Amino acid sequence: MARLSGKVALVTGAASGIGAATARRLAQEGAAVLLTDLDIGGEEVAAGIVAQGGTALFRLHDVTSHPDWAAAVEHAVEDFGRLDILVNNAGIAGGNHELMDHSYDAWRQILAVNLDGVFLGLRHAGPRIAQAGGGSIINISSILGKVGLAGAAAYCASKGGVALLTKAAALEWAPLGIRVNSVHPGFIETPMVAGALAAREDGNEMKGALIAAHPLGRFGYPKEISDAILFLASDESSFMTGAELVVDGGYTAQ
Ligand code: NAP
Repeated sequence: MARLSGKVALVTGAASGIGAATARRLAQEGAAVLLTDLDIGGEEVAAGIVAQGGTALFRLHDVTSHPDWAAAVEHAVEDFGRLDILVNNAGIAGGNHELMDHSYDAWRQILAVNLDGVFLGLRHAGPRIAQAGGGSIINISSILGKVGLAGAAAYCASKGGVALLTKAAALEWAPLGIRVNSVHPGFIETPMVAGALAAREDGNEMKGALIAAHPLGRFGYPKEISDAILFLASDESSFMTGAELVVDGGYTAQ
């Protein structure tokens, strides 16, 4: 029996990296998945899932937009009949910014996508998941929602906010049978990390230093995060809510 048989999931930021791996993993375990993203490349990811025998659709969706959220949640319910699982995954690195001259626009953009986007996801999907009799929401935070990194103040603030927003939602919605947990990946081999390193003159040295900061001696793979997300989406984690699942090769154990 597949672990998510009969469940419907919405995964944001599903065109790339961790989101694409998650959409594939949840579909492999029997969920019908609505993939959403700003990037139309999500259509190809959905087509790949269908070609493997899974159930998936793609929809363009900006997670900072109230109307886009309303339409995405309705799309999932109209096409698949219900909504059980939400993975708030879409996010941006937002570049390297020294606080001394950090622009307010850059701060707002990073907070808008990484934190406001998660609030809007809870706000729009929560009532539908409640209607389904409960379910599981997984918010993608980061190790940088637990520890700081110089040059990443807005990103750290956004991801720390996601961790505590998750706990508050978990407490409010426990009586509704909605579990809400956060996942805290270390550095993972995705286009986000490749892009952030490529944008730096010292990208190669930075990559070496970051790898060395993971006691397991490497970056993680998207599949390793999607497996953790699958666990939180499934009934195997039925007594977990408001928890932080850290998947970081030991980065924050030091
Ligand atoms: P990724 O490969 O860049 O994928 C993120 C996806 O989200 C992209 O397709 C991106 O589209 C999309 N997106 C960006 N802004 C959006 C918006 N406003 N509305 C909808 N979609 C939007 O990144 P990733 O590494 O897989 O990261 C996924 C999540 O994991 C993020 O929340 C990230 O902060 C978190 N995370 C990643 C790492 C890591 O090391 N990779 C570590 C910890 C946490 P565009 O390409 O068009 O921007």
